[in-house]
Amino acid sequence: MLDTAPYKTKLQILRQEYADRLLALKKDLSHKDNPVEKDFEEQAAQMENEPVLEALEDETRDILQQIDTALRCIEDGSYGICIECNQPISKARLDALPYACLCIKCAA
Ligand SMILES: [Zn+2]
Repeated sequence: MLDTAPYKTKLQILRQEYADRLLALKKDLSHKDNPVEKDFEEQAAQMENEPVLEALEDETRDILQQIDTALRCIEDGSYGICIECNQPISKARLDALPYACLCIKCAA
């Protein structure tokens, strides 16, 4: 039986990190709250950055969702079991990616 306590702690820390990152990205993306005068060059640079920021925001939100799912799995006792094939996910994989819901075979 997998001891989920260390993973729960890890996931909670990760969750906080990603939530903070999402907030920071949102702040960067919302120019409305930040009506600073910018010269043209700065505006152009910002417009170029925007798709990158949006992609990062999507990715961060996606990982947050996976973290939440993993935390729920810990609560209901299904943590560490692949959602595709119902086989246990290797400990090495969980150590590297504590919010993994798929085993390495199904993720490939
Ligand atoms: Zn699998």
